Amino acid sequence: MQFKELGLNSKLLNAISDCNYENTTPIQKEIIPHILKNRDVQAIAPTGSGKTASFVLPILNNLLKKNDNNKLKALIIAPTKELAVQINQNIVNYAKYTNLKSHVIFGGTKIQTDINNLEKDIDILVSTTGRLSAHLKQKTINLDYIEYLVLDEADTLLEMGFINEINEVLETIPKEAQISLFSATMPKSVKALSDKILKKKVCVNVDKVNKATHKINQKVYFISKEEKINLLSYLIGKNYKDRFIVFTRTKHTSKLVYDELVKRGLKCLNLQGDMTQAARLKSIAKFKEHKAQVLVATDITARGIDIEALECVINYDIPNSVDDYIHRIGRTGRAGRDGVALSFVSPAEVHSFKVIEKTLQFKMTEVYEEGFSNRREDDEKTVKITVKKEKKQKTKGAYGAKKTEPKRKKLKGKRSGWNIHDNR
Ligand code: AMP
Repeated sequence: MQFKELGLNSKLLNAISDCNYENTTPIQKEIIPHILKNRDVQAIAPTGSGKTASFVLPILNNLLKKNDNNKLKALIIAPTKELAVQINQNIVNYAKYTNLKSHVIFGGTKIQTDINNLEKDIDILVSTTGRLSAHLKQKTINLDYIEYLVLDEADTLLEMGFINEINEVLETIPKEAQISLFSATMPKSVKALSDKILKKKVCVNVDKVNKATHKINQKVYFISKEEKINLLSYLIGKNYKDRFIVFTRTKHTSKLVYDELVKRGLKCLNLQGDMTQAARLKSIAKFKEHKAQVLVATDITARGIDIEALECVINYDIPNSVDDYIHRIGRTGRAGRDGVALSFVSPAEVHSFKVIEKTLQFKMTEVYEEGFSNRREDDEKTVKITVKKEKKQKTKGAYGAKKTEPKRKKLKGKRSGWNIHDNR
């Protein structure tokens, strides 16, 4: 569908054209008409689906129609500073031919600077939860004129424990405000929140799981924990033209991996909770400018970040939840492009990995590299030998079963066990 078919203001259409968007994405086609009509929406939409434009464009369009007071009329809440900054950048891009003004606030900066900026007739505010709550407590923000509220990445907001802050906002804004709730996944907590706060809602589900499984080649290496770092640097070196995000569950592992890759001479950036806000934003900007080949990130810091045309995501370890896995791999295969997601699974992680496969109802392709162990195969052999010995002790010569081939999908070609352009 073309954007002009949605009846958007020509100032917005011109800005969209500057962004070189040809057609709407599925989520935009579904969502924009509803927000234009001020209906509450619940959307299951991952980052990379074009969800930001799906709420920003209709809100801008509706605000343009009124062009009344200089009050704060739209509020967008995001879980992380990085995502908040990114959303605001989108607003700036789409509103460039209008007089509408937006601003972004987040923790870690001087609150007085926010107060000064909020006095400048801002129409749309993007904020992280903690900073917004701080302003509400000290009464330095006025939400009395809010007409549009967006909760972006609601699953992450709730996972991070911000339910009280969200409720505080909901109690402060006018009851008739239109609310949009976006979430990459729909756990019970998000569903409950959505049921509670959305009035006669429209539900849209851009089939996340299908998207993840069909557009992203998901592969798994069964490997010992100790060998992971060597496999990682080997794969990155081998696919030297591509860029990678390497995910780790903890900041500790993230730091270890980052230090080790840097030591090995790879151009790396990192993104983890201990870094200052400025340092985190700098890492993202540099990575977007292709100044490094690898970004090592923890789950939380990388949520919602949009890095265009990323070739490959590597799960250095298995995340704590299926939702985190979906978020991680959502960083590749964006905007219709194919991507690759590789998971390194050590013996201790096999169970968690199987839970992910089962939930997604998708069997990932098992791959291995020559020179590295295949732990699943090794483990199968170990089990087999143990069984044989036990049987031998009890019933002499009673075994002699056929040698079973280990279950492993061999790749074609010699040492090229894996190549990210291999599209199986
Ligand atoms: P989002 O899911 O909002 O993070 O958007 C992911 C990426 O898709 C961003 O880089 C957007 O600029 C881009 N994008 C959004 N809408 C479109 C569209 N209709 N056509 C092409 N790219 C788009």
